[in-house]
Amino acid sequence: MSTPAELVPDTVRRADSEHLWHPWEPLAVKDRLILTGGRDCWVRDDRGREYLDLRAGTLNATVGYGRTSVVEAMAAQAQRLMTWDLAEVTTAPAALLARRIASLTPPGLSRTLFCNSGSEGIEAAVKIARMVHWINGDRDRTTIASFGEGYHGATTAGVAATGAAFRREGAGPLPGGFVHLATPRCPDCAAGGGEHRCRVPGVAEWERRLAEVGPHTIAAIVAEPVLSVGGVIVPPEGTFARLRELCDRHGILLIADEVATGFGRTGAMFAFQHDLDPATGPDLLVTAKGLSGGYAPLAAVTVREDLYQVFGRDPLLGGLRHGHTTGGHATACAAALAVLDIVEGEDLPARAAAIGARVLGQLREQLAGAPPVREVRGRGLLIGVEMTSPAAAQEATTVAQEAGVLVRAFGAVLTVAPPLVIAEDTALRGAAILADAVLAAGRAGAGRRA
Ligand code: PLP
Repeated sequence: MSTPAELVPDTVRRADSEHLWHPWEPLAVKDRLILTGGRDCWVRDDRGREYLDLRAGTLNATVGYGRTSVVEAMAAQAQRLMTWDLAEVTTAPAALLARRIASLTPPGLSRTLFCNSGSEGIEAAVKIARMVHWINGDRDRTTIASFGEGYHGATTAGVAATGAAFRREGAGPLPGGFVHLATPRCPDCAAGGGEHRCRVPGVAEWERRLAEVGPHTIAAIVAEPVLSVGGVIVPPEGTFARLRELCDRHGILLIADEVATGFGRTGAMFAFQHDLDPATGPDLLVTAKGLSGGYAPLAAVTVREDLYQVFGRDPLLGGLRHGHTTGGHATACAAALAVLDIVEGEDLPARAAAIGARVLGQLREQLAGAPPVREVRGRGLLIGVEMTSPAAAQEATTVAQEAGVLVRAFGAVLTVAPPLVIAEDTALRGAAILADAVLAAGRAGAGRRA
């Protein structure tokens, strides 16, 4: 069946340019794709042209487009009972999804609060961590520490936890009680070292920073085990384990922000599992994008059972004083259950590990030493091509789009993060087109400078 966009593209284009406010882009942008459909790893515009999606929307379309099982589960739930606020009632999809998440996380990490977006999940996790200490009478513990180059969302606590000036300037005063720690980058990788064993930097520096602030005032450290939107930074092996030790030593809660990485993206169900043994995890785990595969807005804050129990002693309610009308929306939870069937049934974490390694290898081979490229790095199907400037990266996305491949640039880093269901030969073909686009963008830039 035709969508309205296919019937009246000019009307859509005019409505868009006159009324729709697009986030994260200059108002001057005039020419944009109108997407009208998608199947598997491909999306289609209003002129019927198909594009290979190497960005999974914004890292969220993990199981691809047009998955009938997900759509049918959503339709059935919407017909039965589309939503209900989870204050005082429950619904089957929300309860079953909370149990399903607990089956995938380490023992003890078994209690889930649902929100609508990754940013909301981070807001909730920050409040929960602070409230745990408050209820326990540890009332000096209010500060949240995070890596300076991480990204934790667009709402005020998320922005406060995020270091990048681009995301912070003009939005202040931001909420207080946030400090930044040095982002864990291997100094040998940063120096462009060839084959080497990565060193975990930062622990001494983190200790120094915590000592300045007073470790007894830190409520939680929030960290991405692999940094995503901040530039696809893969901390050296062992980093998350060091963070875990640091938190344990100082009585600090550890919040893993797996909004981008959760449910397979980096080649493990959760990215913290690359570093921690299976029985260990963070104290709070925030997931979103891959949870519902882009079929519905949904996020989850999964916490240790004993932290949940603390709220029974909250003096004002005896429970959590936080929530959203549509947090745990029944139709969204039904979508997520069907998405997780695919994630587990098709073993998407293992696919992401295997295909991601091939794509990373090929991109490195094609782009190593190329003038417009600083570094190619990544883990699983989260790969970054760092170019010499944001303008060069933007130019590369335009050239790639003309060649039929969609990727997103975050600053100077092209982010290659296709749906995890992508076939290996399709991924390698897409990566080859992208590499050509990067080289062409570099030549165009050099031409302009000459
Ligand atoms: N945290 C991380 C690591 C993210 O990558 C994002 C979004 O890209 C967020 C938080 C915010 O999520 P949302 O855009 O759903 O609010």
